Amino acid sequence: MKFHDNLINYCNNCLMPSSRPRLVFKNNICNACKYKDTRKKVNFKKREEELNKILKKYRSKSGNHDCIVPWSGGKDSSYIAYQLKYKFGMNPLLVTFSPLIPSTVGIHNRNQLVKLGFDHIILNPNKKVSSYLSKRFLIERGNPKVAWDAGINAFPIKVALEKNIKLIFYAEHGESHYGGKVLDKNSEMIRNIDEIYEHQIGDDPINWMDDNVSNKDLMPYLIPNRKTLKKFKIMPLYFAYFDDWDVKRNYEFVKSKIDFKGHINGRSPGTFTNYDSLDDHIDSIYYHFQYLKFGFGRCWRDAARHIQLKKLAKKDAVKLIDNYDNELNEKDLTEVLNFLGISRIEFFEIVESHRNEEIWKKKGNKFELINKLKI
Ligand SMILES: [Zn+2]
Repeated sequence: MKFHDNLINYCNNCLMPSSRPRLVFKNNICNACKYKDTRKKVNFKKREEELNKILKKYRSKSGNHDCIVPWSGGKDSSYIAYQLKYKFGMNPLLVTFSPLIPSTVGIHNRNQLVKLGFDHIILNPNKKVSSYLSKRFLIERGNPKVAWDAGINAFPIKVALEKNIKLIFYAEHGESHYGGKVLDKNSEMIRNIDEIYEHQIGDDPINWMDDNVSNKDLMPYLIPNRKTLKKFKIMPLYFAYFDDWDVKRNYEFVKSKIDFKGHINGRSPGTFTNYDSLDDHIDSIYYHFQYLKFGFGRCWRDAARHIQLKKLAKKDAVKLIDNYDNELNEKDLTEVLNFLGISRIEFFEIVESHRNEEIWKKKGNKFELINKLKI
């Protein structure tokens, strides 16, 4: 494969397209693949010792919760919760900002882990506001999860402040593991709160006030300011920094401990895997818009990760991407239309308004990428 200017190029190793925001290439290899190579050289025994030292400092002797796990009930955050409690003897509090349209399987999986002996709190934000903001950002940015992203980031931090728990465990640093912009060398260990605005939300939620949304309505989405967090000495860490992180291993581990269920169809909509993003019906719509804007969807993302883990051959990945990347799940779509209060016609108008014409061309009745992936 040769790299061309002004076209989508593909990583020679994992096939991830250059249209992924902030992905950096060197010699036709993406920085997620480069990062995976550096991880192979890490001594995880030493990293575990490093973690033990930190935990010793924060472990509660009085029985209070001593760390927070922002928890979706998915394989990764459940793996972290289990390890912290049963391997490292911590007393974690699991904190969830509710999915926009919770799925039955997501609720089931959360209940299973709580039954294993965890304390859990969940915030169900005002549905009128979350639906309004979701619709607004779907139209404006082709992303129905902008406000939700702010909420899942804000809520665990607020709980930390409120309950005086300084230690928070996130999963992995996405920009390092999956390619992107790494702000500083500590980024893969300590979470840089500024990245939330810069990479995930795009702006400060306080700017979202309008005729329909007041500052009170925005309360669940506002992240405490940097000065407050510095004074509080918050310690937001990525568990994956200390652990030989493997999402498939996390899934198998959690499945061995609880009755963890996958999608009812045997695979998640839009992909071949069945262990990720199971808890929210809006996810398959979110990935579909990513596909329209950047040319790759959920299947492509999963395929790239599996190639990196040497669990999938490139030629098989191409077939899977062809089969599933453009798939829109009917049940999810119906749920989302009800949640947003829009018609199918309106929805597909929004879809077409976000199709990136620089990367898509029409061929007959179908669209295909201008620089199609070929092996
Ligand atoms: Zn790559």
